[in-house]
Amino acid sequence: MSHTLPPRIAPPVRILMGPGPSDIHPSILSAMAAPTVGHLDSAFLKVMDESQSMLRQVFRTQNELTLAVSGTGSAGMEACVVNLIEPGDRMLVCVNGVFGGRMADVAARAGAVVTKLERGFGEVFTPDEIAKAVKETSPKVVGIVHAETSTGAWQPSLDEIANIVHDAGALSLVDCVTSLAGVPVEVDKWQFDAVYSGTQKCLGCPPGLAPVTFSPRAVEAIDKRKTKVASWYLDMTLVRSYWGEERAYHHTAPINMNYALHEALRLVLEEGLENRHKRHMRNHLALKAGLKAMGIDYSVAEGQQLPMLNSVMIPAGVDDVAVRKQLLNQFGIEIGGGLGPVKGKTWRIGLMGHTSRESNVLLFLAALERCLIDQRVKLRPGAGVAAANQMYAKI
Ligand code: PLP
Repeated sequence: MSHTLPPRIAPPVRILMGPGPSDIHPSILSAMAAPTVGHLDSAFLKVMDESQSMLRQVFRTQNELTLAVSGTGSAGMEACVVNLIEPGDRMLVCVNGVFGGRMADVAARAGAVVTKLERGFGEVFTPDEIAKAVKETSPKVVGIVHAETSTGAWQPSLDEIANIVHDAGALSLVDCVTSLAGVPVEVDKWQFDAVYSGTQKCLGCPPGLAPVTFSPRAVEAIDKRKTKVASWYLDMTLVRSYWGEERAYHHTAPINMNYALHEALRLVLEEGLENRHKRHMRNHLALKAGLKAMGIDYSVAEGQQLPMLNSVMIPAGVDDVAVRKQLLNQFGIEIGGGLGPVKGKTWRIGLMGHTSRESNVLLFLAALERCLIDQRVKLRPGAGVAAANQMYAKI
């Protein structure tokens, strides 16, 4: 049988304005093309050390156990859960979207006795309701999502929530996959015990690694375990020997992905965390002004809207899939559709990392106007772009 070889791949250049991955800075792509070396080569060990130190700066922590798990954000989630949970341990998980739901599933698979504190999609939790649930369930671990990418909701008061968790003698586990490097994340100041993120959101790197950090309290809990960590691959007691001074082989690190993360972290710190947060907020406010002028509302309450993930209501009578297809095929712009109960009702417009730029906001508003006109929506011509430009002039 003869097989014809497929041609070399030639992926199109897209503008990634969905829920992630986001656009990649060219210097990150070129870092990935550097020569692969061995996972114990001194050149690679230097990359690991420097990345670890930069990760601590980005997480705003002194935590010794800070590293990049080989795997996407979900591997980070799983790493945090399986290292803190032993079979039979109680875990309270706050669920107001897909990713809180996933955390509850991961915890149950790890053998936790899970209690879900549930809120509607797009809503957030109050410290009081968490305090009540903590009192009722006496958990070992409380898990919560900072930035629910499935709904666009920004969980406030995490410092207060972590305090409540600590006062009850429990550990706080926080999903910062979408929030890290887009909005403030203060691991030490806010007293988080286990935190995970992902590379493909506001860090602006391709998907493939999951930065994690564990507080000394979390490390103590890991060291006091009576049972082995359920996952060999994600066992921090083994992985830390590779990232620490011992340099004991554990698994073959994805070398070139780690080059990418190193460059992404360098870019974050070169820009400065505060400047980066301001950039994300500025582009969000301009997009929001533009959408408002086009009659498009957010699906999340004012004050709880994530700047890097804009979840908006699809105007009545507009075909969700047709618009997303047109944006992609005619303008090269990818946005996300709604998930779960809001499928077909919302769009998720990402402005994460390198995607969060004026040029993308203005192009998107102009392109969306064209799609909505094709959907026979009555619009004031140019209103979206004009409102965004007015906002840019103000902020
Ligand atoms: N948590 C949140 C808040 C996310 O947005 C995502 C991915 O979108 C994940 C976890 C899972 O990350 P990944 O898809 O990289 O495994």
